[in-house]
Amino acid sequence: MLGGMQDWGLTLDKIIAHARTNYGDREIVTRSVEGPIHRQTYAALYDRAQQVSHALWQSGIAQGDRVATLAWNSWRHMEVWYGASCMGAVTHTINPRLFPEQIAWIANHAEDKILFLDLTFVPLIEKIAGELKTIRTFVILTDAAHMPQTSLPNAVAYEDFIAGRPTNAIQWGAFDENTAAGLCYTSGTTGDPKGVLYSHRSNVLHALAANQPDCFGVHAHDVVMPVVPMFHANAWAIAFVAPMAGAKLVNPGAKLDGESVYELLESEKVTMTAAVPTVWLMLLQFLQANDKKLTTLKRVAIGGSAVPEKVLRTFEVDYGVDVIHAWGMTEMSPIGTLGALLPKHQHAPIDERMRLKLKQGRAVFTVEMKIVDDQGKELPRDGKTFGRLVVKGPAVAKSYFKNAGARRADGTVLEEDGFFDTGDVATIDPDGYMQITDRAKDVIKSGGEWISSIDIENIAISAPGVACAAVIGVAHPKWDERPLLIIEPKPGEQPTREQCLAHLEGKIAKWWMPDDVVFVEKIPLGATGKINKLALRETFKDYVLPSAQAAE
Ligand code: ADP
Repeated sequence: MLGGMQDWGLTLDKIIAHARTNYGDREIVTRSVEGPIHRQTYAALYDRAQQVSHALWQSGIAQGDRVATLAWNSWRHMEVWYGASCMGAVTHTINPRLFPEQIAWIANHAEDKILFLDLTFVPLIEKIAGELKTIRTFVILTDAAHMPQTSLPNAVAYEDFIAGRPTNAIQWGAFDENTAAGLCYTSGTTGDPKGVLYSHRSNVLHALAANQPDCFGVHAHDVVMPVVPMFHANAWAIAFVAPMAGAKLVNPGAKLDGESVYELLESEKVTMTAAVPTVWLMLLQFLQANDKKLTTLKRVAIGGSAVPEKVLRTFEVDYGVDVIHAWGMTEMSPIGTLGALLPKHQHAPIDERMRLKLKQGRAVFTVEMKIVDDQGKELPRDGKTFGRLVVKGPAVAKSYFKNAGARRADGTVLEEDGFFDTGDVATIDPDGYMQITDRAKDVIKSGGEWISSIDIENIAISAPGVACAAVIGVAHPKWDERPLLIIEPKPGEQPTREQCLAHLEGKIAKWWMPDDVVFVEKIPLGATGKINKLALRETFKDYVLPSAQAAE
């Protein structure tokens, strides 16, 4: 027997219609790429997104067509994002930090028809324009006054593209809630990048889940600043969560350095923000060097890679800001777990709370997760046993765009029992706190046992004079692999091998101790700001450890 309730499709237009009607005068503030701070309301966002839909429709964009963006977080980027998706087209957010050849490959694979790009990226796209096979129109996210001279064909200023368009001509949401809404490619650290195709329903459900009280918990009175970009897995749902909750939204644009982020946090009275650890390292360095305080910030979500203990403690203890440690991935829309403490741990001693907060957190509603062995058998939740972390839920991918990497005849990539293999290795403790011990391909396999590179990095980063630390496995004749510690010193400092190893002593098992330490000027970061282990493994593929020579 079916229930007697209404059909009300979970489509993204409902989010901005709700914001317009109930929080119409709440602001979206942006540090524009052109320079000045720009302000507009949710009511204006709605109208201008409608104008985008109309302009797209008149340019021949139909439902299902891919509309690409190469842009920082801004009011215009949000207008395109909603304008394209709400009419049934697919917003394809491209990560500008990828190599130009990868951007061309992705745009061609997605068969993007039109590209909206920030001024910042015009030179980049001019260089690869000849390789872009399907893009017919280039809309530059600026006004006529700032329009550059460009060799891009059919280039138009965004403000001209939407000027004078009606604000009520296109019917939004007139399709099934399972219709594709957004496309985001994984960084492709292994093989070609793969596209994750979010649906309206998955995005709406994910935003509702992400904003539970023990998750982001954003209220109408909050001021939220997603420093995490919209091209990085939907800005972790914040571009949906803020209008849904009626929070004021602050977009940092292109400037993500410590001083610029600090300036906006204070001037706009931001209460909640989110980004990867590298952004927060830059902010904390700026605060300490200039003796600044955070006067309004209450919560900071940190994810994308593990939160270093130093960052966690500095925010919580020195600045009184609650850290929400988040884990997820592009294939999960992206949030899987968040680090809110259970009631029984709220008042635990500080060291115990920090220990729990360094874990990646507990599953949010809509995410089922477990750890399994190589045969897919579930492993115990004892906080000690490592296993492959697999997940299931309405905002978790079952396949990639155009069935890339399919494992089954129906095009899906799932395990036999319908779970998705995250590629992470983790423990889950009896209270449900999950801890990533490594990515499956980064785990160091020493004498048949696994060493977690992440655990060692998290400790090494707080050694004196260390700016960044990475650990990779290097071939060893006796043990198969042994850990090599790679250190990027702070500018002007010269930590030694002995100091770095002494810092680890007593904090990790003896047999986890790196066999050697090397110093590099810069540890390479990938397109989402994480340590590029692939590049490091390539650089050090022929490295001979002193212990390897001795064993031979
Ligand atoms: P995102 O775009 O959200 O960073 P990616 O798909 O690029 O997602 O990468 C996801 C991977 O990043 C995860 O599988 C995991 O290995 C790593 N990751 C994400 N968050 C964390 C975290 N809090 N701690 C450790 N690793 C993390």
